[in-house]
Amino acid sequence: MEKIAMTTVDGLPILAHPDGTRPPIHSDPTVDALRTAILGTETSLHHRVRAVIAGLGDRPSTGMTYATEASLAPDLLRTAIAALGGSAVAIANDPRLRGIVCEWAAVYAPHLLPVLTGHLDLSIATITALGNGSAYQRELLAELDIGESVGVLLLTELGGTNGADQQTTATWDSPRNGFWLDSPDPASWKFMPNIADTTTPKIGVITARVIVDGRDEGVLPLLSRVRTQHGVEAGLSVLVLPDKGWTPMDHALIRFDKLFVPGDGLLGGTWAVIGADGFESTVPVPARFHRAIATLGQGRLDLAGAAAAGARAGLAVTVNYALQRRPGGRTLMADRGTVRRDLVSALAATYATSVLGRRVQDMAATAPTGDQVVGVWSMLVKPLLAYTAHEVLLTCRQRSGAQGTLRTNWIQDWIGSPAGSDMSQETRLS
Ligand SMILES: Cc1cc2nc3c(=O)[nH]c(=O)nc-3n(C[C@H](O)[C@H](O)[C@H](O)COP(=O)(O)OP(=O)(O)OC[C@H]3O[C@@H](n4cnc5c(N)ncnc54)[C@H](O)[C@@H]3O)c2cc1C
Repeated sequence: MEKIAMTTVDGLPILAHPDGTRPPIHSDPTVDALRTAILGTETSLHHRVRAVIAGLGDRPSTGMTYATEASLAPDLLRTAIAALGGSAVAIANDPRLRGIVCEWAAVYAPHLLPVLTGHLDLSIATITALGNGSAYQRELLAELDIGESVGVLLLTELGGTNGADQQTTATWDSPRNGFWLDSPDPASWKFMPNIADTTTPKIGVITARVIVDGRDEGVLPLLSRVRTQHGVEAGLSVLVLPDKGWTPMDHALIRFDKLFVPGDGLLGGTWAVIGADGFESTVPVPARFHRAIATLGQGRLDLAGAAAAGARAGLAVTVNYALQRRPGGRTLMADRGTVRRDLVSALAATYATSVLGRRVQDMAATAPTGDQVVGVWSMLVKPLLAYTAHEVLLTCRQRSGAQGTLRTNWIQDWIGSPAGSDMSQETRLS
């Protein structure tokens, strides 16, 4: 009787020794060199993070509703933060650790990954880079730090978003010392940030066109609660969007109708601030949005790394299956020319893109925040790695036949990560 073990995921030896080290699985120098090229030299950090993320026990589910699956993310996020030292801010500020967390979440935690970059990169890292350290911002950051609230970026608008063309307005109210956020028309409604889940507090980094005394001061991010345990904030209307075909998330369509954000919610670094005379900026209006979103580059890199990690996992599972599966009891799948051609091509593409992603992550780890060269590389590697991973995983699913379509064999869920990255919010911001 043929023995079929489709997935290698459950069988991997995942636990490190108490000191964080583990003997290498292979001592072959070529294998060791390839592993270093792909994973870098932080072997013990990889083992520690892998043990934590695998220890969450998350897995592709079967028989759950879409909304129930989407609601698993916040608890997974809180548990992961606690197990990784207790501070999401510390994880977000450590590019190496953050990237490794995203990679292992892509492999082992299909319900955690969808909220990770929104929380770590797009919310916390933006506050760290552009915040003013005010009591208001510290309070919200403290909630994000332990995952009490989940961080989200509200940027894309229904009418289509390219660069700084967002139409949501943030009108400065000097006597109230704050901004009123409004959606002037349906085209300006924020389109599919994940804030529909009624049970989870959410904090948003919202991009809006700042209007001061009728003047357009450019598009800048503002920090605000968007949802608490008591519901959405006054001045926000949230419509739950339909289920999408992969990676359940609580996507929403969002309309602002006088959401009040205190002046301290402005995320303008030292160059766009609320001073004694109100709003002040040292940067020309057309350059403000791009200056503000320079921090998003690290999110691109993390998504790229996650996509490549998913492709590696998919290949491991498919090759493992191909070495056992003998369709009709005849030729081993792995001995068939067309199967070998597809898997070897996918393997080569995955190695090449994984190494490229690693090299850019190495550059980012030592470069100053917002470094332009790293920013350009991030814009290049994100689509390249996401598209490549998507194609590789589609090949894995096709080559695995019916088994590849079952969620219990993971490939289908791994496809969700690069599929989302292909389209997600950072694609056309330049
Ligand atoms: C899983 C997922 C999660 C998301 N999460 C968030 C979130 O947290 N926050 C948020 O703000 N938004 C989020 N979004 C929205 C996301 O940012 C947009 O879907 C994305 O920017 C594309 O916008 P669009 O869907 O309006 O496509 P459109 O703008 O209508 O684009 C349609 C097509 O035209 C192409 N196109 C458009 N402009 C250009 C251009 N300048 N150059 C080349 N091609 C172009 C696009 O690539 C695409 O193929 C999410 C989307 C997805 C799918």
